[in-house]
Amino acid sequence: MVDQKSRVEEIKQILNEASYRYYVLDCPTMEDYEYDRLMAELIDLETKFPELKTADSPTNKIGGEVLTKFEKVIHSEKMMSLADAFSFEELNDFDQRVRKVVPEVTYCCELKIDGLSVSLKYENGLLIQAATRGNGIVGENITSNAKTIRSIPLKLNHPETVEVRGEIFMSKETFHALNEERALNEEELFANCRNAAAGSIRQLDSKIAAKRNLDAFLYYYLNEGLPTQIDCLKYMQSQGLKVNPKYRHCHTMAEVFEYIDEIAKIRSSLPYDIDGVVIKVNEKKFYSLIGETVKYPKWAIAYKFPPEEVTTKLNEITFQVGRSGVITPVANFDPVFVQGSLVSKATLHNEDYIKAKDIHLHDTIVIRKAGDVIPEVVRPILELRENPCEPFRMIEVCPCCKQPLVRKENEVDYYCVNENCKDKLVNKIIHFASKPAYDIDTLGDKLVLQLYEAGYLKNIADVFSLKEYDHELISLPGLGKKSIEHLLEAIEQSKKNNLNRLVFGLGIRHCGAKISTLLCRHFKTMDRLMSASYEELSAIADIGEIIALEVVSYFQKEENLLLIDRLKQFGLNMGYETQEIKENFFTNKKVVLTGTLDSMGRTEAKALIEQSGGSLSESVSKNTDILILGANPGSKYDKAKALGIYIMEEAEFLSKIEEK
Ligand code: NAD
Repeated sequence: MVDQKSRVEEIKQILNEASYRYYVLDCPTMEDYEYDRLMAELIDLETKFPELKTADSPTNKIGGEVLTKFEKVIHSEKMMSLADAFSFEELNDFDQRVRKVVPEVTYCCELKIDGLSVSLKYENGLLIQAATRGNGIVGENITSNAKTIRSIPLKLNHPETVEVRGEIFMSKETFHALNEERALNEEELFANCRNAAAGSIRQLDSKIAAKRNLDAFLYYYLNEGLPTQIDCLKYMQSQGLKVNPKYRHCHTMAEVFEYIDEIAKIRSSLPYDIDGVVIKVNEKKFYSLIGETVKYPKWAIAYKFPPEEVTTKLNEITFQVGRSGVITPVANFDPVFVQGSLVSKATLHNEDYIKAKDIHLHDTIVIRKAGDVIPEVVRPILELRENPCEPFRMIEVCPCCKQPLVRKENEVDYYCVNENCKDKLVNKIIHFASKPAYDIDTLGDKLVLQLYEAGYLKNIADVFSLKEYDHELISLPGLGKKSIEHLLEAIEQSKKNNLNRLVFGLGIRHCGAKISTLLCRHFKTMDRLMSASYEELSAIADIGEIIALEVVSYFQKEENLLLIDRLKQFGLNMGYETQEIKENFFTNKKVVLTGTLDSMGRTEAKALIEQSGGSLSESVSKNTDILILGANPGSKYDKAKALGIYIMEEAEFLSKIEEK
């Protein structure tokens, strides 16, 4: 009994800590599956030893703490969680429990969208309030953020006073684009679509939420009068509310199982993450009879899919130095196939992440793809850990320049603060020359490194003094007369680039491609941007306080002023002209991308399409003009084929861009 008591206490502590990270910080360090497994163990212990169950047990709690930065909303009716099932056997038990009370039920099966729940209140058809679930009784008022979500109508088709509930989520595509942009800006990546959605909707600044391209499916209609859940879904649709169309009316458990099997097969091709299927009694008149617990209704259950995971051996943890000096640990493991591609590396983000997951060198580790694309280390398999194990130790000096690393206050990352660190400098120049930035395509990563090592490049401005050494460059291995001419010609040409490319290329923290364009559109010249005050900057739509501070501080630093001065002397264009787009293949075309491209990430492809006057959309519709086909395409490919849309492979895409 003493053992059970301490185990209960131990699990409670782990779950409380995990919930805090998941619900409050939107930054989980534990896998959902592991969380659910511990919760199941706790439920089992509390059932066997009821005297160990306390009122504050996580088995009684819904969600997490309500953030004080938001106004509180008291829910008219408790927003509940759902009981979990992990096997068909557990679903049969659920069915038997329900049929004991009401033998003649049918079920409405729906996708379990992996986002966060929201309550929407409409008064006479107008949206007046949106709130998170919070702890089920009190939620956070997120009305202004919810209003930025296109799929949440501000006005219903028919005036009605009603509360509806559903799930706010982020599509896989938006998630990848957001993480790619964050990686470019060296910001911490979101772990998955759910956390990205939760982190985005709980932003005080609704401009940020607006940019995150969130979406929503509604699945509960709280007014009386409609007899079944299926009627509610149909009615909500008629009101202009977005309902996931993949629900099904099932009469028997055999039909429920068939539905689950079908959904499991299409799961990875859906454009959004789901973590299971929800099975709800369809006839609403039985709900009060069947009842509820403090945490969930007894007339519904969530069947959770097992995660798609593979195991491999962690051989080494290496460290990368980013252009800002941020140090990122990287797991190097035996190559394994995960969802169709061979992977051998995954980011481990930072020291806290590794410690929270208790990852040791030489562990057998579980790998999966977050949002189906980015490989991630899920957990070590402790039972397979060999003794003596080697716990992870964060390095203390930069792997490149050997200078001591610094952990900034309130940050999880370590930085190399040596401004002369080779990796930092090389990565800064690589970023500057990259396609979405200054776009000097003949100056690739390897050449930057070679020119750096040969002493010709130490910073961005040196790129433009290369022409002074044309005779010397020819003697470098692998560089002929022709390639030097091409390189110098491309560098000369690049000087005409619009200012937004230069600003992005400078690598100012938090200034991605979009923000840089926004700044240039507003200030028009480098001089005006350089002298902009914090107040001026933060008054611009979409520029938050953090960006404003970073821009001001960048232009206060002596070394940056000297750099820009040199760039001016080299004759780089310091003005921004609204671009006139020459007619080309992509002009005014709606383009969709599916799968991954070999030659570039999504952000880069998007920038190229936009620079050519086209636009990149997330989903295929009859209005789509071109589908670009990458490796491992999703369901968009089938849809585009069915609609007869022009399908372009990567090679053709590159040659069309080249033509431009
Ligand atoms: P849940 O996610 O298991 O299920 C309930 C929720 O499902 C509802 O509140 C609703 O938001 C959502 N949902 C999606 N589609 C739905 C549909 N069609 N109909 C009805 N509801 C739908 O429960 P929860 O209480 O929100 O969260 C608990 C879960 O969160 C755990 O099981 C675990 O997986 C995860 N969690 C993870 C950590 C971690 O550290 N990884 C920590 C805390 C919680």
